[in-house]
Amino acid sequence: MKRIAILGSTGSIGVSTLDVVARHPERFEVIALSARSNVEKLIEQCVQFRPRYALLLDQSAAPQARVKLRAARVATELLSSPDDLLRIAALAEVDMVMAAIVGAAGLPAVLSAARAGKTILLANKEALVMSGPLLMRTVEEGGAMLLPIDSEHNAVFQALPADFSRGLQQVGVRKIILTASGGPFRTTPIEQLHNVTPDQACAHPNWVMGRKISVDSATMMNKGLEVIEARWLFAAQPAQIEVVVHPQSIVHSMVEYLDGSVLAQMGNPDMRTPIACALAYPERIAAGVAPLDLAAVGRLDFEALDQRRFPCMRLAYQALEQGGTAATILNAANEIAVEAFLDRRIAFTAIAEIVERVLNCTPAHAMNTLDEVDAADNLARANATQALRAVA
Ligand code: NAD
Ligand code: MG
Repeated sequence: MKRIAILGSTGSIGVSTLDVVARHPERFEVIALSARSNVEKLIEQCVQFRPRYALLLDQSAAPQARVKLRAARVATELLSSPDDLLRIAALAEVDMVMAAIVGAAGLPAVLSAARAGKTILLANKEALVMSGPLLMRTVEEGGAMLLPIDSEHNAVFQALPADFSRGLQQVGVRKIILTASGGPFRTTPIEQLHNVTPDQACAHPNWVMGRKISVDSATMMNKGLEVIEARWLFAAQPAQIEVVVHPQSIVHSMVEYLDGSVLAQMGNPDMRTPIACALAYPERIAAGVAPLDLAAVGRLDFEALDQRRFPCMRLAYQALEQGGTAATILNAANEIAVEAFLDRRIAFTAIAEIVERVLNCTPAHAMNTLDEVDAADNLARANATQALRAVA
């Protein structure tokens, strides 16, 4: 029996995780759930999974949630302080932590799970992007394990030999090839990108996801964050990470070996596959995913990335080359810009402009402590808020 805490249980990844868990009651026990403000869904999940703890960060909604739990005769203890988030990520009775909070807000809990030596199922890529060296060191010192949930990294993880942590070169890997769907605007005339709406940006052709990552997929900042994520997860040099556009999202990523072999992981675009892979690792379990019908898919296309259309990719590589807190700055500026776009305060194309301005005007430093990460994150957010005024 694996005992699990799901941080961000009411989101797209959280719901998919519980879907897989529900298919295997003999394997998994849900100890804790967490959400920001979706009371309805959190209560519904408590009724179904009966966790020991449920955390609702929106304190104003907590009393109402307690009443609902009591009415449903559910014994779950309802918590609502940010400290409790760190506590449930490190509970002695938890083996695995699904990190599915979106954005920088998820980092403290991921670090807490890492210090406590948990197996961390990492969906929250922003946490790793903003704190790469710090998080990887904390994982090592805490005796924790990181299992990638991001479909590309989960694919790479599956295509790498089990002892890849010896070093990519040592295990005969030449490069990691991340696939990118190209998002909803792969073929939209570039001059029209200025006018696209949040709903258009969130209408991903292949995946149903939360709104922040959907916008990131439309700007391709998502792929930029994923390049940085791959750098840390697999100790890869930037030159060892390549991106290819693959509109069907069937090949989830590839590993190229020195002998010319390229191993790909394929499947229907359904996050329950990487989630089930990590939940059961190293075993395999059913995930409820429809079998891949290659004849129905018909063809798999690949094309080079259009740098002019997707300037965020260049910015991500710039931050990666700069090192230190540059990726923290990139991530923070992007979070502010995406939020402003979703609120209709700036145009879609202003997202990359803001990130570029902030990256160029905020000095990056070495990263050794969480305080340094926080300082860079705060400064970049302040600079991005200022940049919003300049482009709005
Ligand atoms: P989502 O918006 O659907 O869900 C986010 C979850 O985090 C919700 O449960 C919400 O309550 C919680 N949350 C939001 N803000 C919070 C805060 N400030 N403090 C605490 N909790 C907060 O997002 P999602 O699509 O499920 O994505 C979650 C993470 O997984 C992101 O980092 C995303 O990049 C990554 N990811 C998602 C997908 C996908 O298919 N959805 C694929 C790969 C990676
Ligand atoms: Mg991905």
